[in-house]
Amino acid sequence: MTDCIFCKIIKKEIPASVVYEDKNTLAFLDINPVNPGHTLVISKKHFETLEEATEDSLVDIIKTVKKLIKPIDKALNPVGINIALSNKPGAGQVVPHMHFHIMPRFKGDGHELFEGKKASPETLKQVADKIKSLL
Ligand code: 5GP
Ligand code: ZN
Repeated sequence: MTDCIFCKIIKKEIPASVVYEDKNTLAFLDINPVNPGHTLVISKKHFETLEEATEDSLVDIIKTVKKLIKPIDKALNPVGINIALSNKPGAGQVVPHMHFHIMPRFKGDGHELFEGKKASPETLKQVADKIKSLL
C-alpha cells in the first residue's frame, strides 16, 4: 500500500532499525519504545487487521515472533516479555498495517497490564454462547 509507513519500511523507502528479515516478514525496533528492545513484527504483505491476514501470513509472523524471543531476552535481560497486537483503531491501532509488538518488561517499569473485573458464571456463559454461535 503506497502511503503505509510500514510498507515504506519494507521497501526501504524510510529507515528502520531492522533486527530480522526473511522472505515474508520483517522485524524492526519501535521508534517510540515502551522499553528498550520493543520490536515490531510485520508481514511483507499489507493487511490492516488480524482477520484480514491470511493463515499462511499469520504462521510466518508468529514464527518470526518466536524466533526473536530468545535473542531479545539475551540482549536485554528483561524479567518477561509481552506480545501484543492492537486490532483496529478503537483498540489503539495507529498504524493500519497489522503488527505484533514484542515488549520486554523490566521490574518497576510502570507498564501495567489490563486489570480484569470478576464476572459472574452467567455472564461468562452468555458471552461464550454468543461468540460460539457466530463461529
Ligand atoms: P500501534 O499503536 O498501531 O499498535 O503501534 C504502532 C507502533 O508503531 C507505535 O508503537 C509507534 O511508536 C510505531 N511507529 C510508528 N511509526 C513508526 C516508524 O516510522 N518507525 C518505527 N520504527 N516505528 C514506528
Ligand atoms: Zn502496509
